[in-house]
Formats: sequence, C-alpha cells, structure tokens
Amino acid sequence: MPELVDPLPPLREVIAAHGLSAKKSLGQNFLFDLNLTRRIARSAGPLDLVYEVGPGPGGLTRALLAEGANKVVAVERDTRCLPALAEIAAAWPGRLEVIEADALALDEAALFAGRRVRVAANLPYNVGTALLVKWLTAETFFWDSLTLMFQREVAERVTAKPGTSAYGRLSVLAQWRSVPKILFDVSPRAFTPPPKVTSSILRVEPLPAPVAEADLADLERVTEAAFGQRRKMLRQSLKPLLAEASIEAAGIDPTRRAETLQVAEFAKLARAFAARR
Ligand code: SAM
Repeated sequence: MPELVDPLPPLREVIAAHGLSAKKSLGQNFLFDLNLTRRIARSAGPLDLVYEVGPGPGGLTRALLAEGANKVVAVERDTRCLPALAEIAAAWPGRLEVIEADALALDEAALFAGRRVRVAANLPYNVGTALLVKWLTAETFFWDSLTLMFQREVAERVTAKPGTSAYGRLSVLAQWRSVPKILFDVSPRAFTPPPKVTSSILRVEPLPAPVAEADLADLERVTEAAFGQRRKMLRQSLKPLLAEASIEAAGIDPTRRAETLQVAEFAKLARAFAARR
C-alpha cells in the first residue's frame, strides 16, 4: 500500500474520473508514484512559495503540498486538468492557486512581485528547455531554485564542463550565474505513458554574482557564434564578431575551439566584443 499524501483519491482514479488521457501534443507523461513525487518535492525545498509549471492532474502538486509547501502557484495550459486541480485546492484551503496559461508567455517577475520562489516542474522537453532559457536570461532572477525534470541528455548539457561533447551554449548560460546539478535519474517506467528515454531531476541555484562580468546579450552572441561552428578554431568561428587580434588581446589563444573555454573565458570574449562596438 502506498503511503497517502492527502485524503484525495489515487491519481489513476482522478484521471479516469476526469477523462484525462495523456495528450501527446501537450507532451503529457504523468507521474503516479507517490514515493517519486514526494522525492522530487523534497528536492525542490525548502518549500515555502512554490511555482509549479504544468501540474497536469496534480501528482507533483499534491506531493509539494504534503511535503509542507505553504503556497503553490501552478500554471497549466490544459483546461481539462482544471477540475482535478480544483479538487486539490479544496483539500488544501488557501494553499493552491491555479492559473490557466501558457507558462512561456507569463511574466513571472510581475506575478510574484518580488517574492522569492522555488520552481518545480515536470514539463515536456521542448517547453522545459525554452523555460529554462527564459529563466536563465531574465534580467533578475525571481527564483531561489529551479527543480526540473529533463531528458537525461538535456540535463547533461546544462551541467557539462569544458572539454566534453555535451558542453555548449546551454552549459555556459546556466553556469555563468547559477550552479546546475543533476540530483537523480528517473526511469521511463515511472511515467504514464512511458517516454523513450531516461529523465533526470536537475536543480539550479543562483550564484550571488556571475562568475565573471559580462553583458548577457554579448555573452549569448559570442557563445552562439563559437558553438555554432564548434569544430572550428575561435579565429574562424568568431570572425564575424571579433578579429583574431582582439581574441588574443583578451588573453585567449585564437586557435582554441569553443569546447575548451571556461565560462569566465567566454565572459572575457563578451567584454572584448562589447569594447569593439
Ligand atoms: N506535473 C504532472 C506530472 O508530473 O504528472 C504532469 C507532467 S506532463 C509531462 C506536463 C504538463 O505540462 C502537462 O499537464 C501539460 O499540459 C503541461 N504543459 C505543457 N506545456 C505547457 C505550457 N507551455 N504552459 C503550462 N503548462 C504546460
């Protein structure tokens, strides 16, 4: 017998009662395992104000509340899920607010108005990556931590270190002013329906300051150009942005390839690019 998280019916019953068959177009793969959802919820802590994206029928939402979240603000775009989420809100009075919206279009800084938030989400891969980039490129972070389910391969790209084939734009963006870490893997069998690949829980925490000074837009420009032609030397891949002499003046050997550069070295190149304009 699984441990109960609340007086609500088991998720499989909720899904049957509300006709919530998983929709492929919305990237729906639901989690039913209470031990797993509670483990993810604990990983997202300490749980005070939580922003959950894509609650679906509410497996993770229920675990977040049961693990002690004072308030969960959940954003879901599939209106079919709203009645099931309303039942959870009724079981936890004042603790769950559901917003029907596309999370990609939401202005979280305005929504949370300076309150610090822990983000937790099990999202479709493409939406998850787009949201991660949106949250990492926000002028100021509205979040104290991000705890997100990703395909293992994407989580590896976010956490990759220089000199590895997974190291790229996403790694530099994530590691410039935050620290990403893979906490644990989740088997395809944990989901209904099961996806094709293994997933991982990724946790990202902001740094007090970026690892090296740079303008974010400039950092993105040089990183994009350098990794756009990752097999080429920097003197070639960065040609449209920086002369070989400027790369050298920044203290970087222009015969190196993007993959070998530390995040702080990309910041140096971003500063050199800013100085040239
Ligand atoms: N959190 C639930 C769980 O773990 O069982 C559902 C996970 S399912 C992989 C992803 C959920 O995200 C679905 O309910 C889907 O409708 C929702 N979703 C997909 N794109 C979204 C978007 N752009 N904004 C908000 N929710 C979205």
